[in-house]
Amino acid sequence: MRLRFAPSPTGYLHVGGARTAVFNWLLARKHGGVFILRIEDTDRDRSNEEHTRAILDGMSWLGIHWDEGPHFQSEGVERHKAEALRLLAEGKAYRDFSDAEAVREEARVRDMHPSRVAREQAEALGPEEAERRAEAGVPFAIRFRVPDGETRFHDLVHGEMRFGNDDIDDLVILRSDRTPVYNLAVVSDDANMGITHVIRGDDHLSNTPKQVLLYRALGFPEPVFGHVPLILGEDGKRLSKRHGATAVGEYADEGILPEAMINFLALLGWSPGDDREFMTLEELIDAFDAERILKKSSVFDTEKLSWLNGKHLAVKPSDQLVDHIRTRLRGQSSLRQELLDDQAWMETLLAVIKPRARTLDELADQARPFLLSDLAYEEKAVEKYWRKDPDAALDRLGRVAAAFEDADWSKEALEERLRALAEEMGVGAGKLIHPLRVALTGNMASPGIFDVLVILGRDRVSERIVEGVKRIREA
Ligand code: GLU
Repeated sequence: MRLRFAPSPTGYLHVGGARTAVFNWLLARKHGGVFILRIEDTDRDRSNEEHTRAILDGMSWLGIHWDEGPHFQSEGVERHKAEALRLLAEGKAYRDFSDAEAVREEARVRDMHPSRVAREQAEALGPEEAERRAEAGVPFAIRFRVPDGETRFHDLVHGEMRFGNDDIDDLVILRSDRTPVYNLAVVSDDANMGITHVIRGDDHLSNTPKQVLLYRALGFPEPVFGHVPLILGEDGKRLSKRHGATAVGEYADEGILPEAMINFLALLGWSPGDDREFMTLEELIDAFDAERILKKSSVFDTEKLSWLNGKHLAVKPSDQLVDHIRTRLRGQSSLRQELLDDQAWMETLLAVIKPRARTLDELADQARPFLLSDLAYEEKAVEKYWRKDPDAALDRLGRVAAAFEDADWSKEALEERLRALAEEMGVGAGKLIHPLRVALTGNMASPGIFDVLVILGRDRVSERIVEGVKRIREA
């Protein structure tokens, strides 16, 4: 199997394009095929290098590696032209000298397709006169002569497709400025690269009968086609910028993991056939199947993306997360920067906090309290666990500090000490844990208190308790 992703570099890599890339790539990986990247840069006005870069960067971020390419469609222009001229020489195409404006007007009056008017004019001119004019340097376009009958092909997603050829216009394949058109270039390139499967968005479905006719006229073997349904926004309308971020890069910036993005994109228009949603790359490659591409459009649900990301975050080894968090927290003056460089400490911290985060941004936010030089106290927490009964809070913090004094600094030992103290005082452990949590994290909620103790370490715990006591007294 030889598959390709053929983006036009007219913008960044958007989620629709990325989904097409993911489908092709998963199929190639699943079947031991080849995945090719072709940049369709023939629309000179709209394509540029910056967009090409953005597309390559987006794919690299996703980890979708191409086996061949990037090829550029513009490199094949001479071949595209030669193919148009071959069709002309074989009588499968004709020269069109007509004036586009006049043809459109006549077509309007006679209520027929403009290309059929152009065909009539070409036939009226006759081949010899056309030859003479061409030699005299009169500009002309080359149009493909659509044969009578109907065009059928099998679509992997939609099944049997039939188009009446009467509805297909005699498309221009070479413009009068000698530039080839998209439909010819795609067919020529796909055939030249030996593409066996063309999996692309539904928006190309109307091009496919034209391309199928060109394959047949050029004598090229036809690939298998599969057209993937559109992606919709949550309001059921075609996904667009109105719905929020549509560039893959924006999700990277927000702290989505590439493996979560691939998982999410794979489920946009495909399902493994069971109720699995969270899937690793290996599981996706193993389960992916063109037969299960859905006919129905799918909705881009950002909540689901965050949820999936949380799942991927939870299973990602902490050492692979450290750099992501460093980049996000580096240089923030309220944070003790030297802690960021302590690899072992960072890994322990992230291992403890990651089950509660859904994105890398959230993970960084949750790491912050552990790195703060001066703690920020959440008003609600202070009110509830300190201010309501300051004497009790002071007493409890003081006793906890004393109980920890010569304790072995491990989760188990600290827990044992705290529970023993609670028992001795005849209170529930929560009565000690809540004011302690506010002193250590400033917040109502945090990871398990014994994890927090271990992460902060003896000295910072004692500093924060002292600071907490001071605050309660002041208040
Ligand atoms: N270049 C086309 C696009 O970006 C895709 C062509 C194709 O997949 O055949 O929409």
